[in-house]
Amino acid sequence: MAKLRIPLVDLQAQYRTIQGEVDAAIARVVARASFILGEEVEAFEKEFASYCEAKHCVGCANGTDAIALALEALGVRAGDEVITVANTFIATSESISAVGARPVFVDVRDDTLLMDVARVEAAITARTRAIVPVHLYGQTVDMDPLLELARRRGLKVVEDAAQAHGARYRGRRAGSMGDAATFSFYPGKNLGAYGDAGAVVTSDPAVAARVAKARNHGRASKYEHDFEGRNSRMDGIQGAVLRVKLRHLDAWNARRRELAALYRERLAAKPEFRFVATGEGCEPVHHLLVVRHTRRDELHARLREAGIEAGIHYPVPLPVQPAYGHLGLSPGDFPVAMRSAREILSLPIFPEMTAESVAEVTTSLSA
Ligand SMILES: *Cc1c(COP(=O)(O)O)cnc(C)c1O
Repeated sequence: MAKLRIPLVDLQAQYRTIQGEVDAAIARVVARASFILGEEVEAFEKEFASYCEAKHCVGCANGTDAIALALEALGVRAGDEVITVANTFIATSESISAVGARPVFVDVRDDTLLMDVARVEAAITARTRAIVPVHLYGQTVDMDPLLELARRRGLKVVEDAAQAHGARYRGRRAGSMGDAATFSFYPGKNLGAYGDAGAVVTSDPAVAARVAKARNHGRASKYEHDFEGRNSRMDGIQGAVLRVKLRHLDAWNARRRELAALYRERLAAKPEFRFVATGEGCEPVHHLLVVRHTRRDELHARLREAGIEAGIHYPVPLPVQPAYGHLGLSPGDFPVAMRSAREILSLPIFPEMTAESVAEVTTSLSA
């Protein structure tokens, strides 16, 4: 591979823009030796709940645990089924299995590559307890019909908002619509920590209280345990870094929207490049900038030779992963996910990226 000139995401460039604030925040935690939970995490929880326009936020160790903690708090148990989507990161379905439930996959829509809400009802059985829509690539699933269906059938909804910090749907924030929502603050996410971190956001005080105990050994006090929980606490340093970065999130998301518009403009004359469509009522935050092309592998190799990093999210749909071989699923039941997996390419997008870099990428693509 040629020298990497344009990465998919550049966290070193981002650090240079906030170094003073971040260094001071980390120093504060170290000086207080407040390494696990503590005041920075509590302050972040309040600030992030308010940002999401929800009542409560409970920090935890990562976005994978957040999904399992939310499902468990909503009463999902062994033997239940939870409906999710064929095109997502395995953390979504892994967490469903982690609480003993069985993931049930539905196909995606061809335009947005998000959960096809019209297919969800047919996947409901007597065992179904919950639905986990995934706001992939930075825009929300079409939530109104999904919430209506869930209400009608008595099902819980957990939004997997790991890629959608700050996105809006008909004016509402990602994370404020389901019974609970989960976020990942993996470093490369739109709001990323300096290590692993995650959170459950909810407006239901009982769910928040259950998650707050479950992430910390079911503790009521230091050695009084109301139930068996787990160790999934957020570090003080992560809370402090996330508070600094939350102040920049809206500006960073706005810059991602500018870059996404620039990509579309520069490839507008080439209809063989099909961008993922913006759903009705959606205000995306472009965690990933995904374009489809029938000669995807050739383009991917060309970018690599030019020193431009691209990604594929995701190359193998979950129903046909070896990890789910025991479910005996057929690729024929997921035609859109199967076909799009061969066509999708994620192009570099991050707030510090320049217009010149976007031009370099589109020039390489259309050469
Ligand atoms: C990143 C991600 C997760 C998991 O988050 P971690 O913090 O890495 O555990 C879950 N779901 C989706 C869609 C993600 O992109």
